Amino acid sequence: MTDYDVDLFVIGAGSGGTRAARIASGHGASVMIAEEDRIGGTCVVRGCVPKKLFVYASRFAEEFEDAAGFGWTLAKPSFDWLTLRDAVANEVTRLSGLYRKGLEGAKVAIREDRAVVTGPNSVRLARSGETIRARHILVATGGYPSFDPPIPGGELGISSNEIFHLPSLPKRMLVVGGGYIALEFASLFVRLGVEVTVLHRGDNILRGFDEDIRNRLRDALEHAGITLRLGCTVERIELLEGGARRAHCASGAPIDAEVVLVATGRRPNTVGLGLAEAGVALGPLGEVVVDQTSQSSIPSIHAVGDVTNRVNLTPVAIREGHAFADSVFGGKPWTTDHSLVASAVFTTPEIGTVGLGEHQALAAGYELRVFEAGFRPMKATISGREERIYMKLVVDAKTDRVLGVHIIGHDAGEIIQAVAIAVTMGATKADFDRTIALHPSAAEELVTMRTARAG
Ligand code: NDP
Repeated sequence: MTDYDVDLFVIGAGSGGTRAARIASGHGASVMIAEEDRIGGTCVVRGCVPKKLFVYASRFAEEFEDAAGFGWTLAKPSFDWLTLRDAVANEVTRLSGLYRKGLEGAKVAIREDRAVVTGPNSVRLARSGETIRARHILVATGGYPSFDPPIPGGELGISSNEIFHLPSLPKRMLVVGGGYIALEFASLFVRLGVEVTVLHRGDNILRGFDEDIRNRLRDALEHAGITLRLGCTVERIELLEGGARRAHCASGAPIDAEVVLVATGRRPNTVGLGLAEAGVALGPLGEVVVDQTSQSSIPSIHAVGDVTNRVNLTPVAIREGHAFADSVFGGKPWTTDHSLVASAVFTTPEIGTVGLGEHQALAAGYELRVFEAGFRPMKATISGREERIYMKLVVDAKTDRVLGVHIIGHDAGEIIQAVAIAVTMGATKADFDRTIALHPSAAEELVTMRTARAG
């Protein structure tokens, strides 16, 4: 290693970059990693982890109410935002520390600095001015919340980055967007006592999900007290005297709130990274264009995770980072299969999904048998809560293979993770049928659906 300072320089210590750094080091490579923000990346610091903790907090609201039907008498519960906010911040700090320890333990050199690519094998650290020559560079810089195209006055809104640090719980909140982030925060803040209005340009939420799931979630969110204004393109946001914000939609009355969360998607984080100048091909959203092995148009530069805009989920980034490190440094080449990735939306009710939705499967030319179960969960019989669980199996009529499973309701995320194993293995409906039910559970309905939906 005479020509290079390190075998691998990783830009970004999030999920994908950290995994790649540790695995490469384990294969004997000398590795340096740069992070300009906090170690841990979006998922740990300002995404999945703090969000899920907020979701847990929000669900107590209904647990307290449900307890009454089971004989519990509780004093009127009250909620303190600062207690939650600071507890979550402390947990994030703990996890970020664990990520750092993991890197240090793996003998990865850490630079808390912004790295800029200066050539196929060189990186400059912006603050220290240090230049590192690296045999391989891995770009794992993730994404950032996009306000693009900009809404006039959009700077009066906040993104999911800031929502974790609100100084106080607002009385009213507007949420712009109808995707994962918009709906997860709408769903949790309404349960913390905030009046939430979702302003979404489309005629239904969660584009791309199975239609029956979308419709049921829409109804459930409205039932939880969220005002959904669909077909509402926000034209501008203005600041009112006293600090409130007013959003103007193309149609309908303007609407005011103390906080506007703009959740209109995320973009690959490549701005100012020097990639285009170094000859790395970027796609229309600025994503690093990579092949199945995560290699960019410059052979010594690879990229994993959201910066490549493939399947923008943490476990996918981790898998891509692992595959890269094994392939390049471990002599064990393998690639990530992006074709079947389970995901959950942590609204309440929760969504768990894997594989093709019914409409997607039809569009792909499959002849289908569709099985559905809709029922009231056992707990709701006594709590009296108006709550349903819905499950759908999308089955290829020709081969009997289960192409997709879609669940909305309590624990959908937990259930779908286990079902995803079967679907990944190519399970058929007959395999589901020969599986003996676990009773009493909600998930047992997955193996007791006997009759395909008519039509
Ligand atoms: P999404 O792509 O899920 O949703 C973006 C939403 O914003 C859509 O409803 C979209 O509408 C709308 N939108 C896009 N552009 C505009 C615009 N110019 N004006 C008005 N509305 C607009 O992005 P998110 O930011 O919610 O999440 C980003 C990604 O992060 C997700 O795709 C997911 O991969 C990941 N994520 C995963 C989570 C999980 O696994 N639980 C949780 C959170 C994030 P339309 O449908 O009309 O395009």
